[in-house]
Amino acid sequence: MTRKPGPARRSLAEAAASSVLRQMKIDGLWVDPEAIAASKDIVVKAKPDTASGVSGMLIKAGDNFGIMYATHIPSRGFQRFSISHELGHYCIEGHPEALLATGVHQSHAGFVSGDPFEQEADYFAAALLMPELPFKKAIADHDPGLACVESLCKACETSLTATAIRYSALTSDGIAVLSTTGDEIDWCFMSDGIKQAKGLSWPRKGTPVPAGTVTARFNGDPDNVTSGRRESDEGRLNDWLGGDRIYRVTEEVVGLGQYGRTLTILTCKNLSLRAEADETEDDEDALIESWTPRFRR
Ligand SMILES: [Zn+2]
Repeated sequence: MTRKPGPARRSLAEAAASSVLRQMKIDGLWVDPEAIAASKDIVVKAKPDTASGVSGMLIKAGDNFGIMYATHIPSRGFQRFSISHELGHYCIEGHPEALLATGVHQSHAGFVSGDPFEQEADYFAAALLMPELPFKKAIADHDPGLACVESLCKACETSLTATAIRYSALTSDGIAVLSTTGDEIDWCFMSDGIKQAKGLSWPRKGTPVPAGTVTARFNGDPDNVTSGRRESDEGRLNDWLGGDRIYRVTEEVVGLGQYGRTLTILTCKNLSLRAEADETEDDEDALIESWTPRFRR
């Protein structure tokens, strides 16, 4: 059971999570990963003394499985995500064989790793904790942007970052979600709506935060980030992602506190899938183009 190296199989990971939810007859917005683990006779324990950067581990001893999750990040949302990430390694086809040869796999959960196995477990965790149908229904009840992400973050008991990434995947509105540290971009996720803008380029890890943006001003004072302040103003999509036309966006920024990172949400009212369906002006090919987020370590 070896696997050729390749990009993360996102849809396979998400389908594995949906299948678990179906088996457990879970159809609400809040999911309990520890109950799912218990149903599979997997013992879950907190582990306060994990090595730095390790979010959790999956352990196999004989036919018994255990999950340990790190507690150095006190956020319950992150801990629930870490437990779900390990469940992903247990449930996704090929993972146990590939990762448990020594009996222990150590994880770096939370969309920080470039390893395809880690990314797949992250996609599994997101799809498990933020089930597609109820999540989409809840999106429809809110105006697009940060307020919607915050409401879903509470309802799903997930981290703001994980919720924003899931939101970008499931909304039909024009949304880009970016993480920055100081003057550098960590990563960017785009909704299908925003990808309708022509000629966008995907910012790679380490790309400078564009000068003159709300985020650049905000990150200029590290205190904003550590104190979890927030700011919002009008901006231009093109400053961040290039493109052939100028699109106005609302740029909402929130400091993520001790992590030293900033979450930015760009919302473009003129780039929604619903609006596009009415206009039907452009070639479909650009949409079919594969937009896989590019992680680099
Ligand atoms: Zn892992």
